[in-house]
Amino acid sequence: MAHYPDILLHIDGAWRPARSGKTIPVIDPANEETIGQVAWAEVEDLNEALAAAEKGFKTWRATSAFDRAQVMRSAAALLRERAGDIAFLMTREQGKPLAQSKGEILGAADIIEWFAEEGKRAYGQIIPPRAPDVTQMTVKLPVGPVAAFTPWNFPINQVVRKLSAALTTGCSIIVKAPEETPASPAELIRCFVDAGLPAGVVNLVYGVPSVISEYLIAHPVIRKMSFTGSTPVGKMLAALAGQHMKRATMELGGHAPVIVTDDADVERAVAIMSASKYRNAGQVCVSPTRFLVQERVADQFLDGFVAASKTIKVGNGLEAGVDMGPLANERRIPAIESLVADALEHGARLATGGHRIGNRGYFFEPTVLADVPLSARIMNDEPFGPVSIINRFHDLDEAINEANRLPFGLAAYAFTGSERSAHRLASEVESGMISINHLGLALPEVPFGGIKDSGYGTEGGSEAIEAYLETRFVTRKSV
Ligand code: NAD
Repeated sequence: MAHYPDILLHIDGAWRPARSGKTIPVIDPANEETIGQVAWAEVEDLNEALAAAEKGFKTWRATSAFDRAQVMRSAAALLRERAGDIAFLMTREQGKPLAQSKGEILGAADIIEWFAEEGKRAYGQIIPPRAPDVTQMTVKLPVGPVAAFTPWNFPINQVVRKLSAALTTGCSIIVKAPEETPASPAELIRCFVDAGLPAGVVNLVYGVPSVISEYLIAHPVIRKMSFTGSTPVGKMLAALAGQHMKRATMELGGHAPVIVTDDADVERAVAIMSASKYRNAGQVCVSPTRFLVQERVADQFLDGFVAASKTIKVGNGLEAGVDMGPLANERRIPAIESLVADALEHGARLATGGHRIGNRGYFFEPTVLADVPLSARIMNDEPFGPVSIINRFHDLDEAINEANRLPFGLAAYAFTGSERSAHRLASEVESGMISINHLGLALPEVPFGGIKDSGYGTEGGSEAIEAYLETRFVTRKSV
């Protein structure tokens, strides 16, 4: 079994400690033990990373898209080879069951390969001129060194989308990966380094998130930033990016509605959504959260969902047969407890769960709240944990109004037996993504992103590389 290492920075092709020698402890959320230390970058390290990214950009932009793809495909192959060992590190630092860690890593290899090919198709245009001796065209050029900020819930998946889009277009990148879950993203980056990525093209730092983001986003070397995390932090960083006229992609929080109409296959909806809810202990920006079930089938759905929740085996993600690990860090426990307590004070019904499990490790029961009033905080704030809200609705207008009530607009789900309802839901629910009658989000080839307070830009599909490209117009008259 792999040993959990101390985690270094990666700057200008070298793995090294912070210049100050400072580190931050890494905690195993399943037993609260300190399992390692991660290097804590400060301004001196950031300046070196910026110089490296500037140099790396010159090399990488001059490398053809074809050759860039070769390196990326080799990195994907290494990632697949190392998936078992990296999954162990991810489960130790993040808590999710081993099978989910491995799935995330193999999925990341698919993402790298998809982006590697997509970069070959960064086509410009030839635009019909107004004179016969003029040629007008657009060319797509890499935007420049990128700063990427990624969270702890999917330590590899959140990095790989930004990293792959940057690399395939010819950008260099500084990744500020999560301090709570640093080893697995470092191993992802090691695959690229070992695959032959030139020094400086990818740089990896950890430290105080606000210090690093404020320094990097404002710095003239950085031409684009991409952030995944909460809406309040995203708004602050978007404002900073705006102040410095930096391109930005924002993948922020959600509060996904799930609309189940009374002509839907209710059992199927319960089976698909309960499995999805407890994946990664609900710490997923597209996690199904606000279940809106039509009156006639509401009790059937609630009973089925509660029964499914009770079968979820909670435990250390390294143990066989565990469906759900601990919450990823200590602060999630009081956050979830206070949302549940507030909902109950406002008159919600606790259908199952609701409590921390034990007092060592950040385990929490799969929890279902029913008939939750709009005044409860959980109806407005993203729970980001293993908690479902199951409420009922009378007609589709009411369900769509409730789905659209919040400022979030990331993912939405619906189960319906009616083509007409499916059509209305697809066009009227305000979300960047909607999955109807199945679970179909987050493949590399489809868009991934939100609207409204959930951010802007997509991290999947054919538009995902646009954010890393600028369109240059060239007009040329024959001499
Ligand atoms: P948080 O808002 O403090 O941090 C969220 C993420 O943003 C973390 O990775 C953190 O390191 C980073 N961050 C925070 N301040 C930053 C800054 N000034 N500059 C750069 N990065 C910064 O919250 P948290 O306690 O870590 O997580 C709780 C909430 O964050 C959740 O309720 C959820 O809404 C949100 N979250 C969302 C995602 C997602 O996938 N969209 C992932 C993780 C957390």
